[in-house]
Amino acid sequence: MIAPDVTTAVRRLRELVDESRVIVPFTGAGISTECGIPDFRSPGGIWTKMRPIDFSDFLASQEARDESWRRRFAMEEQFGGAKPGRGHQALACLYRAGKSPGVVTQNIDNLHQASGISPEHVVELHGNTTYATCLDCAARYELPWVKQRLASGNGRAPSCPDCGGHIKTATVSFGQAMPDEAMRRAEQLTLSADLFIAIGSSLVVWPAAGFPLMAKRNGARLVIINRDPTEFDDVADLVARHDIGAVLECFIV
Ligand SMILES: [Zn+2]
Repeated sequence: MIAPDVTTAVRRLRELVDESRVIVPFTGAGISTECGIPDFRSPGGIWTKMRPIDFSDFLASQEARDESWRRRFAMEEQFGGAKPGRGHQALACLYRAGKSPGVVTQNIDNLHQASGISPEHVVELHGNTTYATCLDCAARYELPWVKQRLASGNGRAPSCPDCGGHIKTATVSFGQAMPDEAMRRAEQLTLSADLFIAIGSSLVVWPAAGFPLMAKRNGARLVIINRDPTEFDDVADLVARHDIGAVLECFIV
């Protein structure tokens, strides 16, 4: 069913939520746009104007690493202060109420954690951009430390003081392998759901596309909340092509 208006979408979603025991939300960029974080992949988004740095380039070139960190801190000035939106808050309320064991997300903005969902219950398919790790020894580094090293090194991206490895934001770059552990946990959560809610994702990029169908085939009901149509709308139990905050805010308590 495609909801004809927001009121119908909210009413039907509330019924589905009330009838469910295990709700697993799956989120994409659309949930964070009201927080001021643009959808990088959308038409007109940053990545259609500026080519992303491929993982192999990051590994091969000091210049690419320097540029990658320059971009990261330019972004920090624009979106560093972003706060969770209504969608994040609503999902955190379902989580606190024991209705949802955790969230699977394509986002790297840390806003689910900031809304109160415990970090171990946020499965990040594309990693997290709010801290960095050493690619060799996996040591964690905070962004202010990286920033300070960049400043004292004339903009040269720092190496790991422990092992000399490259230090990169904890995100999954283009050309970098998907994290096995996150994929495994995402699958586990998806299969535990009796209600799977895909929010703000166009569901075209692998592996995102696989989860709604996996949930549906496993017997869960499927809800899709996204501005634009997706190729799974036909199999969904409810489709809301409305503002995410407007559809979800009734769950904020
Ligand atoms: Zn290291």
